[in-house]
Amino acid sequence: MKDNMVVYNTLTRTKEAFEPLNPPFVGLYVCGPTVYSDVHLGNCRTFISFDLIYRYLLHLGYKVRYVRNITDAGHLEGDRDEGEDKFAKKARLEQLEPMEIVQKYTLGFHDVLRLFNTLPPSIEPTATGHISEQIEMIKQIIKNGYGYEVNGTVYFDVEKYSKEYNYSILTNRQLEDLLENTRALGGQDEKRGRLDFALWIKAKPEHIMNWPSPWSVGFPGWHIECSAMSSKYLGEQFDIHGGGMDLAATHHTNEIAQSQACNHTTPARYWMHTNMLTVNGTRMSKSMGNGFLPGELFTGNHPLLNHGYSPMAVRFFMLQAHYRSTLDFSNEALEASEKGFRRLMASVTLLDKLKASETTSEFNLAELSDSCYAAMNDDFNSPVLLAELFEASRFINSVYDGKSTISSADLDSLRKLMNDFVFDVLGLTEEGNQTEDMGKLMELIISLRSEAKATKDYATSDKIRNALQAIGIQLKDNKEETSWSKL
Ligand code: AMP
Ligand code: ZN
Repeated sequence: MKDNMVVYNTLTRTKEAFEPLNPPFVGLYVCGPTVYSDVHLGNCRTFISFDLIYRYLLHLGYKVRYVRNITDAGHLEGDRDEGEDKFAKKARLEQLEPMEIVQKYTLGFHDVLRLFNTLPPSIEPTATGHISEQIEMIKQIIKNGYGYEVNGTVYFDVEKYSKEYNYSILTNRQLEDLLENTRALGGQDEKRGRLDFALWIKAKPEHIMNWPSPWSVGFPGWHIECSAMSSKYLGEQFDIHGGGMDLAATHHTNEIAQSQACNHTTPARYWMHTNMLTVNGTRMSKSMGNGFLPGELFTGNHPLLNHGYSPMAVRFFMLQAHYRSTLDFSNEALEASEKGFRRLMASVTLLDKLKASETTSEFNLAELSDSCYAAMNDDFNSPVLLAELFEASRFINSVYDGKSTISSADLDSLRKLMNDFVFDVLGLTEEGNQTEDMGKLMELIISLRSEAKATKDYATSDKIRNALQAIGIQLKDNKEETSWSKL
């Protein structure tokens, strides 16, 4: 199955056969979050998409080293290396230390991704933990002639680089166009070319997060952290580099330039970019203020939502679109996904209840399995995979209703296939009512209610029962115990 996999490579703008440099090992680097605020659902889409890719590579038997960084320094308000540091600004607003901001939003990010059942990366390096590696890389870039220092700040010389390499190889844009769309240099600018970007920035007196360097007490530019950390953990050239599409034009373009200038290689062979989650056609972003927080979605506490959605219904919603297509967020779309998700999971539950018959199956399981692999081998096409799994789900229902038959060997294969694709590859799990936390919470509520009943406080025990009923949870009492289920 591995031999047939093709992935879309942004670098070549074609689908290419996937051939790792050093099989069975695969190096995967994904740009992680900038942890000065909560992640929104758009960010989550990118991380869920790469979770699918990671999971499928693991399923195929590759040994993947998945590196996803945490950006905890070096982000200024303006795109062009200007303005206040975002971490320092947030720290000022929340009256915390910048590192408290980093810790707070890193923990929040982990909590959210855990709810979406994404697998943790193999390494999660931070920019502040790799200052010396970044300094070493900048030194080498200067030594190779592609960086220059002005008043303690170091810039990357894009003009010089472009004479020897294709600077915009990733986006295929003309240098003239890029120049045209970039602000002309003013008298106060230190850099030589208007496309030049900072590798190291000298700190202003009010700047709090600083490190010593050969050039000044300052901090690294944003792009250098990913070049330094990816080469440290995956080597100068590795297999896949990923991130959201919005990173291609600047961040990834500059990463390629830095690695070429330092090591004379393009860092990654395959560049993969996820498309954007939009709201009414506009990209969801922190700066636009149209970002849904995962918490708002789970509770339904947002004017655009009719009710709350479970993390798994949301994950399913994301998987119903191919990672390279845009996906528009709406209450209607989520409602349809929630239904689809529940239908699929209901048939998976039914699998345990199916009885095999002596006769042969009326369903070609080998064909179904091939189609599932074909879908995922075609650049991780999860919507097509889901359509195949719904075929299986119709068959499962039909066997359960006694309208079709399945042999015992096929039933085993079907169980394995559904288990592999629904749980391992797509990363779906049962909805909240089955999770450990919910179980513990319900145990607590039921014991409180039993205590109320034991003291004949029926008002409280009824209140608990009715309140649970109102949020869709039913209690059933028998002589020994009380059980609960979702309505
Ligand atoms: P940030 O924390 O802003 O650096 O973003 C983290 C990741 O989320 C990056 O890979 C972005 O490309 C990605 N991202 C940001 N907005 C969206 C969106 N609306 N849809 C999908 N991915 C996004
Ligand atoms: Zn990055």
